[in-house]
Amino acid sequence: MIGVFGGTFDPVHIGHLRVALEIQQVLGLEQVRFIPCAIPPHRAAAQATAAQRAAMLQAAITHQAGFMLDSREVDRAGVSYTVDTLQSLRQEFPQSRLCLMLGLDAFSAFDTWYRYQDVLALAHIVVMQRPGSSLGQLQAHPAVYNLYQQHRADEPQGLRQHRAGLIWLQTVTPLAVSSTLIRKLQAQGQDIRYLVVDPVRAYIHQHKLYC
Ligand code: ATP
Repeated sequence: MIGVFGGTFDPVHIGHLRVALEIQQVLGLEQVRFIPCAIPPHRAAAQATAAQRAAMLQAAITHQAGFMLDSREVDRAGVSYTVDTLQSLRQEFPQSRLCLMLGLDAFSAFDTWYRYQDVLALAHIVVMQRPGSSLGQLQAHPAVYNLYQQHRADEPQGLRQHRAGLIWLQTVTPLAVSSTLIRKLQAQGQDIRYLVVDPVRAYIHQHKLYC
């Protein structure tokens, strides 16, 4: 099974890395592919360039077996639609199960995504419960809540038995870190040590990012 972890990663921080590791271990993923987006469809543009965000990711994940940088969205340019990314992964890995990893915050707007039904036809979705989020909050989004009820997996092993279309909710260690926080601290001249891994901190300093 392949974990597909997309995001802006502006910059990658310990929250991303820790949840990726936990999901990798719980589900026994052979790979976790970190996919920085070129132009995100649902939010403001990134501050760092795509090349810088990719370089920080590469520096952050080098030493974890199975973690890899996947630059297909950056290479494709234009708006990054997940459905296109999954289609291209499906062509490259026709036999593998794809598990799209999403924070609960991102998942609660899933019904607004471009061709979201096709997303579920191509991959499983692993929803990561991050700090401040609970399943209860999904009830404010009835369409997504219904989708979750219809597609939810009873156990993580179910993801191996089916090719796509299941939703698994995984509780992860709450780490209240966000890229927004890192950018804010950096702009204020505060130290971001221990919120990002050291090579990322060094890169941010060297390239004077987020000042
Ligand atoms: P920003 O603060 O700029 O919005 P972010 O920290 O949310 O950024 P993204 O690159 O937008 O980071 O996130 C990519 C994915 O990682 C999203 O699915 C998001 O929900 C998830 N994620 C981000 N931070 C955490 C965290 N601390 N714990 C669990 N999941 C997280």
